[in-house]
Amino acid sequence: MTLDLPTLVPTLGVGFALLTLQLWLAGRGGLRRASAAGLALCLGFALFGLQDWLPAWLVLLGGHWLLMAGLAGLSGLLSRHLLNRAPPAWHHGLLLAAVLLVPALLAAAPPLRAGALSAAMGALLLPVTLASLRLGWRGEPSLRAVALGLLLASLALWLGAALALGRAAQAWQGGIFALAFLAVLATGFAFVLAYFERMAGQMRKLASVDGLTGAMNHATTLSLLSHALERGRREGQPVGFVMLDLDHFKRVNDRHGHAVGDQVLKAVAAATRARLRGSDVLGRLGGEEFGLVLPATGEAGARHLAEQVRQAVEALELRGDGGQPLRVTLSAGVAEAARDDTPETLMHLADKALYQAKQRGRNRVVVADDWLRHSTLQSAVG
Ligand code: GH3
Ligand code: MG
Ligand code: MG
Repeated sequence: MTLDLPTLVPTLGVGFALLTLQLWLAGRGGLRRASAAGLALCLGFALFGLQDWLPAWLVLLGGHWLLMAGLAGLSGLLSRHLLNRAPPAWHHGLLLAAVLLVPALLAAAPPLRAGALSAAMGALLLPVTLASLRLGWRGEPSLRAVALGLLLASLALWLGAALALGRAAQAWQGGIFALAFLAVLATGFAFVLAYFERMAGQMRKLASVDGLTGAMNHATTLSLLSHALERGRREGQPVGFVMLDLDHFKRVNDRHGHAVGDQVLKAVAAATRARLRGSDVLGRLGGEEFGLVLPATGEAGARHLAEQVRQAVEALELRGDGGQPLRVTLSAGVAEAARDDTPETLMHLADKALYQAKQRGRNRVVVADDWLRHSTLQSAVG
């Protein structure tokens, strides 16, 4: 089998350049920057493929600069995606040195020129290759494809440098050049997939989490409670549920404004979350009403936790709109699931207990006893 590289590389380069141009036109933010980097890379590779038809200086200057800009753009994006920070300052210095190296090397002998520039490009990819290898295996699975692509591209670039400096046959150098090209392309596509996977994860999170307090929203809390009940039945473990409601919260809003009210809700959610176990769930059921799903927790444990949360919220040192001290309290209804409870019946029972806590003067915890369970059941049947 023979590979006709002078035909293959420009054809692929131009084809993928068109594809990345379409992505650039359609995309926004990170995707748009990724497409711009991809476009620079594809055009750079295409220029090298077209070297028989173009002036040598154009191929050497344009091709290398485009490749360097593309690689720097790609590694900058990956650095932000993988490490959540801009590439280190020395990375920009290396890029500048590499860009200046291109015209300086134009007069050098071709093997030295090709070897030095290949090594410079490999060095540009080095930090992000190492970071992606370290994180790819621990983080999101789609990052593994990015790490593999980068590793292959880096190896190809370093090998290309070694072959050129060792004056290996042109065919070998061409093959390694094509391999670097394909590995960089594969990295670009893997990055786009990883980008979309992360976006999809963020959307799932947004769809299940309350934006203000970080608690689970109503629908997610219900489904997690249902899951906890099924598991509790299967494993013969109790499940506790606590319903919390801030006392006279309307007054807080009326006196201090909605913005302060929102800050109070955030502080209450944080104080509550600080007292939960990893398997417990904090849900925001409505305005100033929260629910706690407590797997493997019976009535006594749930009551104890609710009491701790009540005391923690009472002790919160909050400030009103004029900086004056602001105190809030909450009432809690506690219920332990019976074997055939549905999420709705358990929530209803905890709500009844909460109602009693309000009636008995607020800032207290009431546990749903057998009598309350019975009367709740009766009223549901009636
Ligand atoms: P009670 O002790 O009987 O529970 O009295 P309350 O005033 O807390 O109860 P009520 O249900 O009458 O009022 C709840 C208030 O919560 C009404 C609304 O102004 C406020 N609220 C609901 N959601 C939000 C929110 O997201 N932000 C703010 N700031 N206030 C909210
Ligand atoms: Mg209230
Ligand atoms: Mg309420």
